[in-house]
Amino acid sequence: MGSKITVFGSFVVDLMARTPSLPIPGETVKGSVFKMGAGGKGFNQCVAAHKAGADVVMSTKLGRDSFADVALNTMTELNMPKDYIFIEDEASTGIALILVDENTAQNEIVIVSGACARINDEDIARVAPRIQESEYVLMQLEVNQDANEKVARLAKDAGVKVIINTAPYQEVSDEFLNGSYLVTPNEVEAELMTGVHVDDLESASKAAEVFRSKGVENVLITLGGNGAFVSSAGREEIIPAYHVRAVDTTGAGDAFNGGLLAALSEGKTLWEAAAFANALAALSVQKMGTTPSMPTREEVDTFIRTNKSDF
Ligand code: ADP
Repeated sequence: MGSKITVFGSFVVDLMARTPSLPIPGETVKGSVFKMGAGGKGFNQCVAAHKAGADVVMSTKLGRDSFADVALNTMTELNMPKDYIFIEDEASTGIALILVDENTAQNEIVIVSGACARINDEDIARVAPRIQESEYVLMQLEVNQDANEKVARLAKDAGVKVIINTAPYQEVSDEFLNGSYLVTPNEVEAELMTGVHVDDLESASKAAEVFRSKGVENVLITLGGNGAFVSSAGREEIIPAYHVRAVDTTGAGDAFNGGLLAALSEGKTLWEAAAFANALAALSVQKMGTTPSMPTREEVDTFIRTNKSDF
């Protein structure tokens, strides 16, 4: 097992319905399938890292309601530590209402962050010792940003390497990015944050330069089915994705970030970790769902052994 790592981020319950068509305002449509499951970028990424065998803990906030049990039951099933799960009396557990058109696969999503957007100083003080003893802390942009900023600050002050998965996109301060070890935007987020349209090695390199000018040490841009661009220590390369038949790419970025974190905690280089994360994400896109689609370590190792990577 590798070094200690912490994921500080969101938990939401995914409430997914498939319908023959997406409702227009005022319309009610009959859906065909309903599924409920654990979700939230932070939680998904933590599950991916945990199932990959990492010494990882999840820190998030839940409401005092039955949706909180979706998180807690999943954590019990997977044997994940719950020491840094906080409870908010004044807000409900976060939810995501996801409508999927069964003909076009188009979707409409409403997220109510609820409790996980109300992480306060008391919560941060409780998780601080764990963060300070971690080698890496991974965060996203799905909880209240003032909490993210405080966690990033205390991590950097303690020499902990901060990884920021810039999803879902929102504007962040230069101060938040400055001094972070790594950012991991997808192509869309990279463009929104740097103004550079990313679609190849050259444009990714330009975007990376913008991030570096903001004080970010390393840059990794995920490129969907094309893999991941890595810029680190003067070397820039695209690590190609595995060729698989994708059935559901929701949560691909979460699988990738969790896998990356787990591999880094084992002492792998950013290049090796990106290759491992490509494999983990390739497995996840072949299954439906987010948290349930995260593979076990054994599955990832077998996949890497039996599938050729161009890297
Ligand atoms: P996000 O889900 O955040 O938009 P991406 O679409 O960039 O993120 O995907 C993240 C990672 O998931 C990619 O870097 C790649 O490793 C993997 N991935 C995504 N789509 C595919 C695919 N069609 N085939 C294989 N791997 C994929």
